[in-house]
Amino acid sequence: MDNFSLSKFMYETVACGATNQLPVSSVCNARCLFCSNKMNPFKIHRVGFRPLEDVKKGIALLSPQPVPEIRIGDSLPGRISEGEALLHPDIFEILRLVREKNQTSVIQVSTNGTMLTRKFIEKLKPFQPLKVTISYHSNTPRNWRRIFNLKEDKYKTASDSFFLLLKEGFLIEVVIVPLPKLVGYPDIEDTLKYLRPFTKDVIIFPPGYSAKAPPSLRKILDSDYSEMSRFFTKMRKKYLMNLCLMTDPLKPLNFDPRALMLETYKARFSHVLWLFSEAAYGHAKKILGDHDPYVPNEHSAFMVKNHTYGGNIICAGLLMIQDYRKAIRAALKKSKKEKIALLILPKISFDRFGDDLLGENYSRLSSEFGVPVWVR
Ligand code: SF4
Repeated sequence: MDNFSLSKFMYETVACGATNQLPVSSVCNARCLFCSNKMNPFKIHRVGFRPLEDVKKGIALLSPQPVPEIRIGDSLPGRISEGEALLHPDIFEILRLVREKNQTSVIQVSTNGTMLTRKFIEKLKPFQPLKVTISYHSNTPRNWRRIFNLKEDKYKTASDSFFLLLKEGFLIEVVIVPLPKLVGYPDIEDTLKYLRPFTKDVIIFPPGYSAKAPPSLRKILDSDYSEMSRFFTKMRKKYLMNLCLMTDPLKPLNFDPRALMLETYKARFSHVLWLFSEAAYGHAKKILGDHDPYVPNEHSAFMVKNHTYGGNIICAGLLMIQDYRKAIRAALKKSKKEKIALLILPKISFDRFGDDLLGENYSRLSSEFGVPVWVR
């Protein structure tokens, strides 16, 4: 053996520590308005279909323990271009190999639904239990076509697939990127009404864009997230659906810092600065402030803006070291007298090696600012 290098897919799997994910494609047949592949501020890898030999290595890394789901087609965040798993020329052999390794877990496949003809669904049947997660942003043919940049026949395939999948006993989940500026809220409600007989589980990603998006696209993608949150709250109750809006600005934050605050005190840090993404900052600062009187050391919060992506990107998962660097510099300047003894950064910004998506390691911040950094 003279080649120790890992493929990009393998590297990402190891770096993310994913034991139930098997990305197989960075090729897609659609050209969605909001696809991150077009708007990334740095170069992402377009590595085509993952070769079967490399897929086998990926399968070897899947957890041998029964897990609720083995996810095929999920893109690992950020460095490899997103793609459509069901286009892979060896998709049925891949499913066979995954099923051979694990007989009981649900195999989950993310798809835009355009491959799900009656014949294709028939061929998926032997691999059940299988959950199909379909991106379906509008049930109006014209809107669907404008969003996916595909023809009517593809809409028809995706739209009809829900009935066929349900009839054959597949589990169904839907992903919606709501575009109220393009389709209007009534169209989104109609889409939910259409989907309800097939599934109650809908994951909603608010539309995001980077600074690279042209103004005409920004106009379409710009949304009032609070208005969106209120709309989906209404829909959730009206249709009794499990509508999971990601980065919901009105939803209470699942963040309990007490144990970590105490840990920093026991480690003898006098003043701790917590860095939060724009999405988390408001709620997180309030929670931190509520707990601060009950620990002996000092805790404060600072917001990190995403200058790398720009646009309306506010989540922690896409923050880079260069964004943290800017924020820390500003925070240290502001807190002249009180000496910051420790910085705490959210771990979701980094892979298992401590690298951001640009490959810069968080340990650099500690040497640059002379302050210890914890990633939690
Ligand atoms: S289906 Fe997914 S990968 Fe394909 S263009 Fe749309 S967003 Fe991009």
